[in-house]
Amino acid sequence: MPRPVHFRGDRAGLRPCKHTHAARLVTPHSEGCPECLARGDGWAELWLCLSCGWVACSDGSPNRHAQAHYEETDHPVATPLRPGPSPHWCFIHQRLT
Ligand SMILES: [Zn+2]
Ligand SMILES: [Zn+2]
Ligand SMILES: [Zn+2]
Repeated sequence: MPRPVHFRGDRAGLRPCKHTHAARLVTPHSEGCPECLARGDGWAELWLCLSCGWVACSDGSPNRHAQAHYEETDHPVATPLRPGPSPHWCFIHQRLT
């Protein structure tokens, strides 16, 4: 069972955008990108949707399912799914936040 991810952390130098209010304490939905796993594809990095806990591959991955999730759901903020504090990525502003 994946553990909940805390996103308070080192965000020094980053100005939070107005979309970070959508970020909640979420439990990752899976340990990999479900759509890539179904297709047998790989990814560079996994991102966690901070609105619903959906896990998908990053913009640096071949399939960019995190971007697809944003386009389907309008969930604006994701964070890399890795140990330790990470900045948020805002899909609307297309920047770290
Ligand atoms: Zn934003
Ligand atoms: Zn994927
Ligand atoms: Zn979501």
